[in-house]
Amino acid sequence: MFFDDEEYQGSQDDRLVKSTKGEYDVEENVLRPKTLEGYVGQSKVKDNLTVYMNAAKKRGEPLEHVLLYGAPGLGKTTLAHIISTEMGGQLKLTSAPAIERSGDLAAILTNLNDGDVLFIDEIHRLNHSVEEILYSAMEDYALDIIVGKGPSARNIRFSLKKFTLIGATTKAGMIANPLRDRFGIICRLELYTSDELKEIVTRSAKTLGIAISEEAATEISKRSRGTPRIANRLLKRVRDFSTVKGNLEVTVEDAKFALGRMEIDDLGLDEIDRALLRAMIEKFDGKPVGLETLAATINEDAGTIEDVYEPYLLQLGFIARTPRGRMILRGGYKHLGYKMTEKQAKQVSLFDGDDE
Ligand code: ADP
Repeated sequence: MFFDDEEYQGSQDDRLVKSTKGEYDVEENVLRPKTLEGYVGQSKVKDNLTVYMNAAKKRGEPLEHVLLYGAPGLGKTTLAHIISTEMGGQLKLTSAPAIERSGDLAAILTNLNDGDVLFIDEIHRLNHSVEEILYSAMEDYALDIIVGKGPSARNIRFSLKKFTLIGATTKAGMIANPLRDRFGIICRLELYTSDELKEIVTRSAKTLGIAISEEAATEISKRSRGTPRIANRLLKRVRDFSTVKGNLEVTVEDAKFALGRMEIDDLGLDEIDRALLRAMIEKFDGKPVGLETLAATINEDAGTIEDVYEPYLLQLGFIARTPRGRMILRGGYKHLGYKMTEKQAKQVSLFDGDDE
């Protein structure tokens, strides 16, 4: 058995440069806006990127390397698709955990063409030897490979095509400085407002051929925790309930009923959010508690709490990060229907003001 060289390379590509999310379904791709105009919200990021892309095009150069950071589902991958289309290059998607050895990255890099965009998801998880290969690739479009061992080791330099690296991360703080410094453009994606999410829900409904009332779209957007991926997912689940009921249009009653059945409350909190808040009150009496301790108490991964649950609870003002750990605030007690004890109220007033 033998491999045709090109064919073999192709199958390597498939393995390494694949879409990073396991749950990446066809619909998620269908729902991605294709242009910056269609990309809802994040106006600061869009405005800046427009300037940088136009400038790069005018100079006939590739776009500088871009670091996108923000919680999962806020549109980092979508932006990478849009940037590669705007810049006229091919997009290669991969993720840091998929790049195990420096040779894996070298194979990806040598297959890029001028103007291509390489998207590395979870870039804070790159291992050190792989990261080092990236330094010269990003800075000089060069690949430094050490051949041999000991005194006879030699450094061989290959030149690469002029590509743009887009790194995505949920944890900007975990990126080593030498890597961060090599990104010319750093963009932080924010949680979306309900109005922006409503626009996304309305558009997604249109794309998927779902008839939905305006009130129902509003209801879904209010419960989507500021996150487009969740908004799209809730839309599809709510549609299922409507379909089963035999309704031709998703009504606000359908939306409320379906979201209630999924145990997603008025503000989009689910059972885990509520368990987290309840633990802070019942197990820790409203005192600050460390992330790891909290995670162990509710049997959740600390990283997931930090990336997935916490940002929205912080945005709602239900919890605070204090020097001594996470603490529940007045809004959190109220939302769960707890009345604060005197001691708890005193704790809270240190971080939350003492009005009311
Ligand atoms: P991330 O890479 O940050 O985890 P994605 O880019 O995969 O998130 O986005 C998840 C889903 O949310 C996609 O299906 C996309 O359609 C939708 N989405 C994300 N951002 C936007 C946006 N600004 N406007 C419209 N839809 C969006």
